[in-house]
Amino acid sequence: MEKIRKPRGTMDIMTPDVYIWNHIEDTVRDVARRFGFGEIRTPTFEELGLFHRGVGETTDVVQKEMYTFEDKEGRVFALRPEGTASVVRAVLENGKCSDTMPLKLFYLISCFRYEKPQAGRSREFYQFGTEMFGAADPSADFTVIALADTIIKELGIKDVALHINSIGCPHCRPAYRARLISYFEENEDKLCETCRQRLHTNPLRVLDCKNETCAKLAAEAPTTVDNLCPECADHMTALRRYLDAAGIAYTVDPHIVRGLDYYTRTVFEFIAGGIGAQSTVCGGGRYDGLMEQLGGPSMPGIGFGMGLTRLILAMEQSGVTPPAAPRPEVYLAPMGDAAKAVALTVTQNLRAKGIYAECDIMSRSLKAQMKYADKIGARRTLILGDSEIESGKAQLRNMENGTQKEISLTDAAEILLGEINA
Ligand code: ATP
Ligand code: MG
Repeated sequence: MEKIRKPRGTMDIMTPDVYIWNHIEDTVRDVARRFGFGEIRTPTFEELGLFHRGVGETTDVVQKEMYTFEDKEGRVFALRPEGTASVVRAVLENGKCSDTMPLKLFYLISCFRYEKPQAGRSREFYQFGTEMFGAADPSADFTVIALADTIIKELGIKDVALHINSIGCPHCRPAYRARLISYFEENEDKLCETCRQRLHTNPLRVLDCKNETCAKLAAEAPTTVDNLCPECADHMTALRRYLDAAGIAYTVDPHIVRGLDYYTRTVFEFIAGGIGAQSTVCGGGRYDGLMEQLGGPSMPGIGFGMGLTRLILAMEQSGVTPPAAPRPEVYLAPMGDAAKAVALTVTQNLRAKGIYAECDIMSRSLKAQMKYADKIGARRTLILGDSEIESGKAQLRNMENGTQKEISLTDAAEILLGEINA
C-alpha cells in the first residue's frame, strides 16, 4: 500500500530533535515570566475577516498566503497566519481593555502560510510572540526589544544584529508617503511587478523589497527617520537613549518597515548571520492603531514574533550544543517473575517521587538488560533476583564511577533523591 506523507512545508519533530525545541520553549517562558508577560491561548482558526482587518488587505500574507476554508455551514475561516490579530480580538472579546495597564501577553503557537517551502520558511511554522497593550511610552518599546534580546542571548545566539527604524504616525506619515510615491514614480519602469502594483496601496513595502533594482532605488529613497514629526522623533531618540544605556547594540535601518496604517513609530528586526536568506529571527513593532481597526478603543500596542525554526538554525550556526536526551537515574533489572513484580512496584514508587527510573518490560536476559541500560545512559542500576526480593536489599551500582552500595528497597527513593540533590 502507498504510504501517506506529511503535507508539503510541514514537519515532524522527532525525539531527540524535540529537546532543542523544549529548551527554547523553557527559555522563552522563563524570560517572559521575568518580564511579567502572562501566557494567552487563542484558537488555531479564526473568521477570515479578522485577518483581513488585523493583518491588512494589501499584505502578501492576506493576498497570497492564507489557508482559508469553509465549514459545513458555509462560514469562512482561516488558519492563523500570525498571532497578533487573534490576541487583539481576544483582549477585546474578554473585556481586558479595562484592566489595569499595561497588559503584557505572550504565546507559543504554530502559524500557517501558503509559501514556497525552503530553509527557514515553511507552511506550518512555530512562533513565540509577545504583545503589550496600554503603554505609549518609548520605555515600553525598550522593554519589548530587551525581552527579545534577552531570549536571543540566553539561547547562545552570537551572530545577530538588531535593526530599528521609526515609520512615523498618522500625523507625519501621509506627507512622507506622498514624497515616497513621487520618488518611486519617477523610476516606476525600474520597479518589479509587485512593487509597481503596491506603489499606490502600500508604498512603504517597496522599501524592503528583495528585488535587486528595487533595493537600489530604495537605498536612495527618502527615509522615514528623516521625515518624522517632532513627537515621533522624540520617541525614537528616547528609545535609542534607553538601548544605549542598557548596552543593547543596534543600527538604524530605514529599510525595516511595516507598511500598514495601524503600525506606528518603532519597528525592529533581529537578523542572524549565516543562516541563509531567511535571516530575520524576530520581527516586531508598535501598532497603536490596531485595536481601533478591530473595533476597540484607541489603545497603544507593541509586540514581536520570533520564528523558532530560525532560532534553531542560528543556534546551530553559533555552535550551541543541543541538549541531550534525559538519562534515567536508575535502571531496575529484574530476574524472574517474582522479581519483576517487585521491580515494577519500586519503579512506580520512584517515578511517583519525581525520579526518572526505567525497568525492563521486554523480558530481556540480564545481559541484554545491562546492554540496554548502557545504551539509554542509565546512571545507576539495581539488579533484583530472588535473594534480593527475600532480603529486601539490593546493590545500587553507579555506572559512572563503578562504585556499589547495598540499599534497602523501601529506602530507594530517599537514597536516590539524596544522591541526585547532592
Ligand atoms: P519574512 O520576511 O521572512 O517573510 P515576515 O515579515 O513575513 O517574515 P512576520 O510576519 O513578521 O514575518 O513573522 C515573524 C517571524 O516569524 C519572522 O521574523 C520569522 O522568524 C518567522 N516566520 C515568518 N514566516 C515564516 C515561515 N513561513 N516559516 C518560518 N518562519 C517564519
Ligand atoms: Mg513573509
